[in-house]
Amino acid sequence: MTNSFNALKLAQEQITELDLQLLKRRLRVTQSPCDTTASIDGRQLKTFCSNDYLGLANHPDLINALAQGGQKYGVGSGASHLISGHSAAHELLEKQLASFQKKHIPKVRALFFSTGYLANLAAITGLARLSQRGDLSIYSAKLNHASLIDGVRLAAAQMSAAVNLFDHTQLTSLTDLLKKDTKSLKLIVTDGVFSMDGDLAPVKALLQIAEQYDALLIVDDAHGFGVLGKQGHGILEQENIDSDRIIYIGTLGKAAGVSGAFVCAQDSFIEWLIQKGRPYIYSTATPPAIAHTLLKSLEIIAGEEGVKRRAQLNQLIKIWQDEMAFSEWSKVSSCTPIQPVILGSNANTLMAAKLLDEAGYWIPAIRPPTVAPGTARLRITFSANHSADDLRQLITTLKRIEQEVHQKVAHD
Ligand SMILES: *Cc1c(COP(=O)(O)O)cnc(C)c1O
Repeated sequence: MTNSFNALKLAQEQITELDLQLLKRRLRVTQSPCDTTASIDGRQLKTFCSNDYLGLANHPDLINALAQGGQKYGVGSGASHLISGHSAAHELLEKQLASFQKKHIPKVRALFFSTGYLANLAAITGLARLSQRGDLSIYSAKLNHASLIDGVRLAAAQMSAAVNLFDHTQLTSLTDLLKKDTKSLKLIVTDGVFSMDGDLAPVKALLQIAEQYDALLIVDDAHGFGVLGKQGHGILEQENIDSDRIIYIGTLGKAAGVSGAFVCAQDSFIEWLIQKGRPYIYSTATPPAIAHTLLKSLEIIAGEEGVKRRAQLNQLIKIWQDEMAFSEWSKVSSCTPIQPVILGSNANTLMAAKLLDEAGYWIPAIRPPTVAPGTARLRITFSANHSADDLRQLITTLKRIEQEVHQKVAHD
C-alpha cells in the first residue's frame, strides 16, 4: 500500500489551488425542511437562495400526498420505465403535464424523468439521433444551464455535430449561421429563464428563426414552469406560443416543490425518445409516490392557490425593482423571482455572503464556472412564502452590507 500516489496528489493539489483562487465550494448541512428559514449549525437563517419559488417544498398537502403515495405504491419503482417501473401514477402525471402544454404544442405528450439534468441529456442526445453522423448542427445559447451544455457536448461527440454558441440578446449572428447551414437536422437549444440572470429567452423570435430555417427549438423552462403564465404553465403560456417544433422541458424540483422533470413535445418526438433516449431507457423510474405527490403539486399550481402564490411573487418582484438600489453593485433587469446582484470579484462576493450570514441570511456567493469570470454575484431568489416585510428587511441589510464591503475593501 502507498500513502500517496499520483492521482491522490493531483486531487489534493488541485483542491488547494481552487481554495487559493477562492473557488472552492463547500456543502452546508440543513436540519430543516426547505422554506424561508433554514436551521444550520444550530442557527436559524433567513433564506433567499432556493428555487422553491411557490413555497411548496414544505407544503402540508404535498407532505400528505407523499405519505399517501407511499402507502399506495410503496417506496421504489423497482426498474426502468420500459421494464416494469412505469406505474399508473407516472402515467397519470404525464397526462396532466401534457394537458398543461396542450394549447402550445399540437398532439402533445409528456415524458417524466427523475431529474432535469437527465431530461436534458435524454432530449438532446435522443433528438440528435434523428440525424445521421455529421449531418446535424446544434445552436446553443451561451448562458445555458450546465445540463444543456453537457447534453449538447454529448450529442455533438456521439453524432459528430457542429456546435455554435449564440448570444440570446443578439440573434443576428444566429440567423447568419443558419442561412449557410446545409445540415438536414438543426437544433436550437435555450433556457426559458436564464438561471443565473433571471431574464427570459426571446422564445418568439427564436421560434420564428426555427421556422424559417427548419430547426427544432428546445426550451428548458426549469425556472419558468409553475411561475410564468396565469395558470403557471410556464413560458409558452406567458408568451402565448403555439408550435409543433417546440420541445418543452420543465423541472419539478423548483417551483413544483418536489423533484423530477419532463419533456413535452409532439407525440412522435416523445415516442422516439422512449425508443432512443438512453438516459430515459437505462435509469430506474422515479418512485411512483413522487409522481403521486407531483399530481397534487400540479393541482396547486394551476388552481386558485397557485394564482395567489404567483401574485405574491409578483408583489415581491415589484418591491425589489422599486426599492432596491445599490451605489456600486448592479442589479440585473429581471421580471422573475431570480434577482441577481453582480459584485464582480470573487473576494468581494464571498465577503458579502459572509456578512449576510452574520446578519442572519443565507445567500451564497455564486462564482465561476457557474457564471462568467468577473461576474461573481449574489443570486437572490424569492419564494411566495416570503412576506413584503421579509424582503424590505433584506433590502435594508443589503444596503448596509454594500457600504461595509466598500469600507473594508478601501482599507485593504
Ligand atoms: C436546475 C436546472 C436544471 C436541472 O434540473 P434538476 O431537476 O435539478 O436536475 C436544468 N436546467 C435548468 C435551467 C436548471 O436551472
